[in-house]
Amino acid sequence: MKLFEAIIDANHRAVAGDASAGLHPSEYADSLPVIALTCIDPRLNAFFPNVLALPAEQFIWLRNAGNIITSPLSSTMRSLALACAVKGGREIAIIGHTDCQVAKMTASVLLDRFKDLGIDRHKLPSNLSEFFGVFGSERQNLIKACDFVRGSPLIGPKIPVHGLLLDIETGKLEWVVNGYETWASSALPPEPAGGFPELGVLGGFKDFVMGEMKFPHGKIGDSAANIGEGAAPLPPPTPPTALTPPRPVPPPVVPGQSPLPPIQPAAPGRRLKVPLPPPIRPGSNFRRG
Ligand SMILES: [Zn+2]
Repeated sequence: MKLFEAIIDANHRAVAGDASAGLHPSEYADSLPVIALTCIDPRLNAFFPNVLALPAEQFIWLRNAGNIITSPLSSTMRSLALACAVKGGREIAIIGHTDCQVAKMTASVLLDRFKDLGIDRHKLPSNLSEFFGVFGSERQNLIKACDFVRGSPLIGPKIPVHGLLLDIETGKLEWVVNGYETWASSALPPEPAGGFPELGVLGGFKDFVMGEMKFPHGKIGDSAANIGEGAAPLPPPTPPTALTPPRPVPPPVVPGQSPLPPIQPAAPGRRLKVPLPPPIRPGSNFRRG
């Protein structure tokens, strides 16, 4: 079983109430550390990295609003590339979540919000949805992001790129893109002898101009509406009776003091096991982001 297959297996067992569900990181040393890109939603703070059953030192965490990748050479894409090249990340997981507020943001609402912030319409790009990459379906957003990362010239063919969806109520993870499958089947264009490939080899990104931000023309809202089409139907909700009781959100971090119990070194002859905590349900007064 590969790393993220084991992570999801342990996650599903934990959500189903198996208190012993967890992961032996030492078995996956060749796949660690992992790089995760998630949304900025503060409700996610309580989930990571515990929901992956990974120790904190094996978890490289990037965040942006909506876990969006806007192009194969975007700023987030460059951070992902450096996370691999500088910090040694071995696998990339883009992890979206249910009830993402970015997915509910239309161009007109966005304009109103910016107006409230004192930003006039004429100072903003013509196609806000396209510019910010807002989406109507988190699943489609994940598929698109994984395609960008998989096809980016900044990410080598050795890095699996996964897309996962986190249920923010139960903590359950779901595959959207299995990076091991696409990893095995992807046929990247051969790198030219001259070094950095021409952007043209990336197919759909021919219009991208390095160093120049382009605002594609189109009717506001088209992008989100199109992305939403063809979205896979949501699975039926998990019955609450199948879940372990909710756990209160952990206390705030005190500077210099870890909020989690320290991980004890494995005794000789025994492997270190990181337990997977039960799912977390934020309080009803928890502010949504
Ligand atoms: Zn979100």
